[in-house]
Amino acid sequence: MKTNILVYPEDLWLEQEQHIAAVGIESMAFGFIGINICNDKNEYLVFDNYLPVDDEFSKRSIAGISLKVDSVCAILKKVKQSSGLADVHTHPSGLSHFSSVDNCGHQIQMQNVFDFSPDGVLIRVVKERNNFRAEVTNKELQPEFEPIDIIKIIGDKGFHFIYPVNSRVKKEVINSNILEQHKRTLEFYKQDALSAIRKSTIGIIGTGGNGAAIINTLKFFPFKKWVLVDRDIIEEHNSNRFFGYNYGDAGKQKVDILKRELHRFDPAIEVETINSNFPDEISVKALKGCDILVVSPDNNLVRYAASQFAMRYLKPLLELGSGITMKNDHITAIGSQVRFQIPSGNGKCIVCNGLDVKRLESEEINEYKRNIGYITDTDESPGSVVTINSIAASLATHILLDYFGNYIQRDSIPTYLSYDEKNLTLTDLSSVFKKNPVCTICGRYSDSLFGKGDILPPNLEVLECEEASENLIGGEQL
Ligand SMILES: [Zn+2]
Ligand SMILES: [Zn+2]
Repeated sequence: MKTNILVYPEDLWLEQEQHIAAVGIESMAFGFIGINICNDKNEYLVFDNYLPVDDEFSKRSIAGISLKVDSVCAILKKVKQSSGLADVHTHPSGLSHFSSVDNCGHQIQMQNVFDFSPDGVLIRVVKERNNFRAEVTNKELQPEFEPIDIIKIIGDKGFHFIYPVNSRVKKEVINSNILEQHKRTLEFYKQDALSAIRKSTIGIIGTGGNGAAIINTLKFFPFKKWVLVDRDIIEEHNSNRFFGYNYGDAGKQKVDILKRELHRFDPAIEVETINSNFPDEISVKALKGCDILVVSPDNNLVRYAASQFAMRYLKPLLELGSGITMKNDHITAIGSQVRFQIPSGNGKCIVCNGLDVKRLESEEINEYKRNIGYITDTDESPGSVVTINSIAASLATHILLDYFGNYIQRDSIPTYLSYDEKNLTLTDLSSVFKKNPVCTICGRYSDSLFGKGDILPPNLEVLECEEASENLIGGEQL
């Protein structure tokens, strides 16, 4: 059985909840859907709402609600630009199933939705006082529906889960070993937050110095599963900053060494290793199933692609980088940065958060630069770089724990921290960069990637990194 998950960015969820809160009369709201088909689950991503106002209803009472034709047409027009529709209404009477009127209406709506979005889905949700009942159908399943098992809300501060009354999955309880292991942490960290971590699969894109360092700190938290993506092998010259390296490991795949180390910590940890480079097909397929992503590559091209991917599939993304700049045998800069991209509310993508798109360079360009003596990345840096890697990893781990647990009780989770090892300063740059409202990655409009999932609307193509770089910098040469 594949689990069906309906995913909402928290701002859209709250907006909808407020809209359908009327007492004593039925209410109605709609969500536009992107889909993410994975091996063991289907995710339905809500990327926009349609909230009909009073004069759009042809009928509205305690026992029924329907829309005027004009509004139905406006909704279907948007369905054409998406992969389906979520139809949400309330039963203030407390009626605890879809009524015969609902069933009849949804059969008609099914045909409309599949006419406008043939590969799409129709989701129907009814809020019965405080419970939800939710179902999904597509062209193959129709006229039958399958249960939506979980409604997952991606917040500015962590994940929230709602289990509809018709869900086929049981709310997981954290086992006693994990509770015992985290006994002291749970004195300041909520069990719900630990439980959200336990439900989450984490994907690590790039397992070099920073990637290995963050695995070394994040392994202390009980993620459901790990997906490690990297094609590289470990070599003597980078073994001095690779957490997990042991004598004799030179020549082995980095991901295999890290899997071994995770299993040394706990043999029960589930780890999938992908010996390839993101964003190739095999890595994308494996990462689509993750709930949280970490990217720590050696070039900005992969950062850019990860940012697009994470917004497209509504996954929070942590980005780490560290480096040393040298001139005439002297260090001119040494430090690291961590950025956090949250697909909710005013969350910025890392391009809006200061990623230098003029330096969207591939591994080949980096190689060329190294050959002519231009050194900014960790591969050619002095060995002390392990210090900046572990600081980046600690900062990133903190951001992730704070995101899940909100244990520092800040107004918002930091989204850009910069550590300067030369001047020994840590700066919070979270509010320095402003979100571009028409950003093709994080902008909240129909022609952005936000929440679009597997099937992009016909007029929305993903720009390849090089093209995007040209667009963003007006064709200026690198
Ligand atoms: Zn109803
Ligand atoms: Zn953006």
